[in-house]
Amino acid sequence: MNPLNSLTAPFIIVMLFVALGYVWSCAVYPYKACRACRGVGFFRSPIFRAIRLCRRCDGTGRTLRAGRRVYNAAVRTHRSLRDPRRRNRRDDNH
Ligand SMILES: [Zn+2]
Repeated sequence: MNPLNSLTAPFIIVMLFVALGYVWSCAVYPYKACRACRGVGFFRSPIFRAIRLCRRCDGTGRTLRAGRRVYNAAVRTHRSLRDPRRRNRRDDNH
């Protein structure tokens, strides 16, 4: 066994567990606090106690995490590839 393999194998295993943990956490906790308003959802005016909703998160105070955004994009792509095929099949039956 050469010394390179003995170092890289545990590293790859650790990275795999970190990646799995990230995927799991994106599935359970899909949102993070909005970066612009820090999860508050609005900005307060220094005078008149007026508020303005955050444009980045539409006043919700949360945004999708990067991993979840990738997952949603993958699902959307999968659906857009799958649905036209269904439509064609339905057209053939008529
Ligand atoms: Zn925001």
